[in-house]
Amino acid sequence: MTRYDLVIRGGTVATAADVTTCDIAVCDGRIVALGEDLGPAEEVIDARGMVVTPGGVDAHCHLDQPTSDGSRFADDFASGTISAAFGGTTTVIPFALQMRGQNLRDVVADYHAKAAGKAVIDYGFHLILSDLTRPEIMQELPALIAEGYTSFKVYMTYDDLKLSDRDILDVLDLARREGAMTMIHAENTDCIAWLTERMLREGKTAPLYHALSRPAAVEREATHRACTLAEIVGTTALIVHVSAGEAIEQIRAARARGLRILAETCPQYLFLTIDDLGGPGAQGMKCICSPPPRDKANQELVWRALADNTFDILSSDHAPFSFDDAAGKQRRGPDTPFTHVPNGVPGIETRMPLLFSEGVLKGRIGLSRFVALTSANAARIYGLPRKGSLAVGADADIVIWDPEREVMITNGRLHHRADYTPYEGRMVTGWPAVVLSRGTVVCRDGALLARPGQGRFQARSRPLTPATGGAADGYRGRPRG
Ligand SMILES: [Zn+2]
Repeated sequence: MTRYDLVIRGGTVATAADVTTCDIAVCDGRIVALGEDLGPAEEVIDARGMVVTPGGVDAHCHLDQPTSDGSRFADDFASGTISAAFGGTTTVIPFALQMRGQNLRDVVADYHAKAAGKAVIDYGFHLILSDLTRPEIMQELPALIAEGYTSFKVYMTYDDLKLSDRDILDVLDLARREGAMTMIHAENTDCIAWLTERMLREGKTAPLYHALSRPAAVEREATHRACTLAEIVGTTALIVHVSAGEAIEQIRAARARGLRILAETCPQYLFLTIDDLGGPGAQGMKCICSPPPRDKANQELVWRALADNTFDILSSDHAPFSFDDAAGKQRRGPDTPFTHVPNGVPGIETRMPLLFSEGVLKGRIGLSRFVALTSANAARIYGLPRKGSLAVGADADIVIWDPEREVMITNGRLHHRADYTPYEGRMVTGWPAVVLSRGTVVCRDGALLARPGQGRFQARSRPLTPATGGAADGYRGRPRG
């Protein structure tokens, strides 16, 4: 009789396909059996009354990324991956950023050096392409794709990152030929620059004006253009961090025309609004990110698009800058104009618990859909066939959720190195009790059991088609009073 390394006993086991109650057996870091009364095993974890999901795949986060303006990301690959793990994420795909003038080989080597010996969970890298001026840069890409860097992000805005439409066409065409995935940050840069100049002339420098300088129309136009560029090339593309109903409509319209446009949103568009940027004094800086949080009506439209399969992925876009820090949000003190406040919010640890509590337990999405959005689809879209699943043969990246645990989110209980969370004081129900990476316990009941360096680089295969996850699979948790 087989003796397993580990059996997880009797949990409510959820994948992107279905929800059942069964045991999961693990050997050598992989799932080897699903069934009833599995055993014997070296270790048994009693998961009765718990929800068991694949570990999260956070496909959009920024760790230890250089900046060109003197600001500094708060998390490196140690603190960032530890924070991710405590929130149920077992794979991260941060960005390897090409600064202008850099060769992609050097970029990739730099990021391997940053991650090695630090990451506690598995990781891959997307490339950020910011400079295609020298022909050798495009020539480097096919070999890098073959080595497992099968996706890249391009920007339509930010002076130090943006590509022209023509460059984006070249990138999309290369992605089509090589079977890679292009992620597009869709905001119209000239509109933002024009609106920003006008606001500065009028002395409007408070955090709120960050949002008013990037209205939904700016995102709608760029989303339309991104879809059009993909259409002209005849390929797929993924629109990242979609924030507003108008952009969502563009994605639906593109799909109705037969285009394979994929879409991502983030917790900040479900849980923050523009009112959070208008807070007293400098407080609004904490919620400056791009695109900015919108109004309540847009928040509701984003929720609906999560439930109806318009969105494929929920990522954190974790971009942590400390608030009380001259290299963070307040680079010029409490009156730092919004144009000098680094863009981004921390959220790598709160991504899954927020959606579990407010999405699954409040009945907005089913448990399978939760798995699709937080894990399974990112694994498929970004070429990680052993992640995002609880099938036999999959890596034993597993989260055991206590679905009744009530937690108040405070920065003190989070593990990132930013000095705030935009979700301070929010109550959620459900939190990861045990998190496993390739069969090894990384976190258990608030204690870190992994050592830095345990995470492995994942060379990714070419993208696969995402699953949708059942919109209604009947799981609602226990009724709450
Ligand atoms: Zn972006």
